[in-house]
Formats: sequence, C-alpha cells, structure tokens
Amino acid sequence: MKVVVCGGGIGGSYVVNGLAEHVGREISSITLVEPRTYFEAPNGVLGAIHHPDYRREFQVVAKNQEWAWDRRVKHVASRVASVDPAARTIKLENGEDIAYDVLCIATGTKSLPEGAAIWRPGTEIKTLEARLDEIERYRADIAKSKTIMLIGGGVVGVELVSELAERHPNVRIHFAVSDKELLISFPSITRRVARRHIERLRNVQIHFGTGRLGPPDADGVYRIGSFEIRPDMVIKCFPSGLNTGFLPDAWLDERKQVKVDRFLQVEGTSGVFALGDVANISNDKSAKTAIDEAEVVRRNVLAVCRSRQSSVRFNGARTGFVLRLGPRESLMYYLPFIGLYGITLSGSYLAAVVREILLARIIHQCSTGGTSGSLKGPSGDLAMTT
Ligand SMILES: Cc1cc2nc3c(=O)[nH]c(=O)nc-3n(C[C@H](O)[C@H](O)[C@H](O)COP(=O)(O)OP(=O)(O)OC[C@H]3O[C@@H](n4cnc5c(N)ncnc54)[C@H](O)[C@@H]3O)c2cc1C
Repeated sequence: MKVVVCGGGIGGSYVVNGLAEHVGREISSITLVEPRTYFEAPNGVLGAIHHPDYRREFQVVAKNQEWAWDRRVKHVASRVASVDPAARTIKLENGEDIAYDVLCIATGTKSLPEGAAIWRPGTEIKTLEARLDEIERYRADIAKSKTIMLIGGGVVGVELVSELAERHPNVRIHFAVSDKELLISFPSITRRVARRHIERLRNVQIHFGTGRLGPPDADGVYRIGSFEIRPDMVIKCFPSGLNTGFLPDAWLDERKQVKVDRFLQVEGTSGVFALGDVANISNDKSAKTAIDEAEVVRRNVLAVCRSRQSSVRFNGARTGFVLRLGPRESLMYYLPFIGLYGITLSGSYLAAVVREILLARIIHQCSTGGTSGSLKGPSGDLAMTT
C-alpha cells in the first residue's frame, strides 16, 4: 500500500515516523509532501526566537530533514496543489503527480506566517538556514523599533507580548485585543491570571474590544479611542485560515475544515484521513491535540494497510495547558478531574519547568512517531499541552 502524507508539521511528522518501521511490510512506500526541508514545532518558536542565543535555541525546536523524518520516508519538498479522489492521485506545485492508496492530510493553519515572523506575509521559507536568516531580520526590526502594535488576544498574542515586553523594556507595545477579554475560550481563572500578568508590564498598553484590526491608515496611524499610534512594526497574532484550499469542496465544511468521522477518516471516502488543525473534530487546536489525532491516524492507517477497517476512535480531552508568560514565567492550568477543580500556578518556576518538559516531549514524539517505549500513544497520557 502506498501511503502519502501532506504536511510535515506536528501531526504529519508523527504519522510518517510512526509508520516508517512498516515500510517493506504492509506499507510499500511512505511519501511526505512538505515544502520545508526541515521540521519546526510552532509551539516552541516564540520562546526560541526571542532568546539572546536564538540560533542555538531555535535548533532545539527545529530539526533538519535527516533528524526530522525517518530515512525510510521519501520527502518531496513541494506543496500539494490539488487532489483527484477518483484517480487517487495528488498533484504538486512542482508539477509532479503522486498516486496514493492511503492519504493523510495534515497541512495545518496558514501561519501566523512561519511562526512569529508575522510582519512579512507571504514569505516562503523552505530551509532551516533561510528561516534563521529571517529570524535575524525580525530581531533587527525589533531592535530598531520604538513602538510595536501587536494584534490578537489569543495564546500567541499573550505569549508574544509577555516575551517582547520583558526582552525589550524600552519598546512601547500597544496590544490590541479584539474581544473584551484575553484568551476568550479559556477558563476564567486563566484569563484573570494572564491579564494581571500583562497589566503589570510597564511598557504595554492593552486596548480591549478593538475588533480585528487591519493595517494602519494611509499615514501609518492606528486610532484607538484617544490613542494615535504610529507603530514602527505591526505583528498580527491571529491565524489567517487553513491550508485546505487544494482539497475537493465536498471534503470541506463551511469553515473550510475537513469533515472527518470519529476515526478521523474523511467523510465519504475510504483510506483518506485528516488530522490536526485542519480536522473538524475538535475545537481545541493545539500541538497535543495534533499528536493525539496523529496516533489515531497512525493506527487506522495500519489497519487499512492490513486490509482491516479503521477501528481506533479519537476521544481526545485535554485537561491542562501551560502558557509561556515571558522568559521566566509560565501559567499552568491543570484540571485532573474535569469539571471538579483546577490547579493554576503562575509566575512559578515549576510551571516553567513543566512547560519545557512538555515541549521536549512533543518534539520527541514527532521525531519518533510514538514508537519509543513509554511515549507510545495518547491513551493514559498526561493530557497537557504547552
Ligand atoms: C506561533 C504559534 C505558536 C503556537 N503555540 C502553541 C502552544 O504554545 N501550544 C500549543 O499546543 N499549540 C501552539 N500552537 C498551535 C500548534 O502548533 C498547532 O495546533 C499544531 O502545530 C497543529 O499541527 P498540524 O500538524 O495540524 O499543523 P502544523 O504543525 O502547522 O503543520 C502543517 C504543515 O503543513 C505544511 N503545509 C502547508 N500547506 C501545505 C501544502 N499545500 N502541501 C504540503 N504541505 C503543506 C506546512 O509547511 C507545515 O509544515 C502554536 C501555533 C503557532 C503558529
């Protein structure tokens, strides 16, 4: 059976590495289509690129091809342009056609372009070296800025504003939050702790209820209430859609997510799976969810290749998370018995350590596909994410 995986981020890397040992047995070949020649864990990027030793730190969260993907996996550095379900082929932007028996779609969200390098939309970074150069330019832009406008009050906005404010105390940061609160989909205690933390940052001005701001006016000015803000740099911290435009319309719902059943199989197909940010199964889009879904897909792909039906269901429920609040602090929320009580640690060294452990674990899981000992599988895991 020929297995083709589209997207080599968190979910896709887990799937290809987890299936690699079956090449030459139930699986005749695994092809990974991923435009980058390296793997990057988006959930570790913000901390790494603002660190003084960012080159070293970034290489902890990004891995070159030979470390990222098992050598039994054929990597094609291109983008999927379309899928022909009747012919069971995909067409790539480089003109190549690839036939599949089993197809996995893990193409994720349109970045927050390439991690946090948000101010240059459309940049196409393909190699790790080019990415490091881009980060260097980003850092130079920050170093030159006196005023930064940061837009979006979700996880990325909260983590980025905390990081920038502490690392660059002389930069004035305006933080435009579209809603009346930060982290709108999070428990109220988390929202309160995060807000308290940001309100204590002397160089940050929060503006609530701005709606989703676009670019500044023709003079380069944002007018919010009594503020006239002329930023040297604007950073958007909200996603701009999903990478699903190349898929047949029949596979997509109204939000352009891929319609999947409990087995993560695309509705109305056989042997086609979707996972991670693109799958419409869960509202909780995180690295941990992508890993849990990837394990379900890995097992169901194996079942299909062994001429059996998919049998593993996705029952994911996250019970906690750790948010990074600048270089020293993290906010940990853990709900061991869902609905009963939660534990919140803020500003704590322990929370920061837990975060580093969770991040290292997610990167390890991606590179092994859950095939190394105790890390195998989502069941029984501490259901937390970074
Ligand atoms: C800046 C940032 C910070 C984040 N912080 C956190 C955090 O702290 N904690 C957390 O849990 N989650 C965080 N997330 C979210 C988390 O990273 C995602 O939920 C997770 O990566 C989803 O995994 P995925 O496999 O679906 O997609 P991704 O990991 O995004 O991988 C998608 C891959 O598909 C490739 N691709 C795109 N289009 C195509 C195409 N047409 N053909 C082939 N390949 C394609 C991309 O190059 C990419 O490598 C963050 C995300 C971002 C962007």
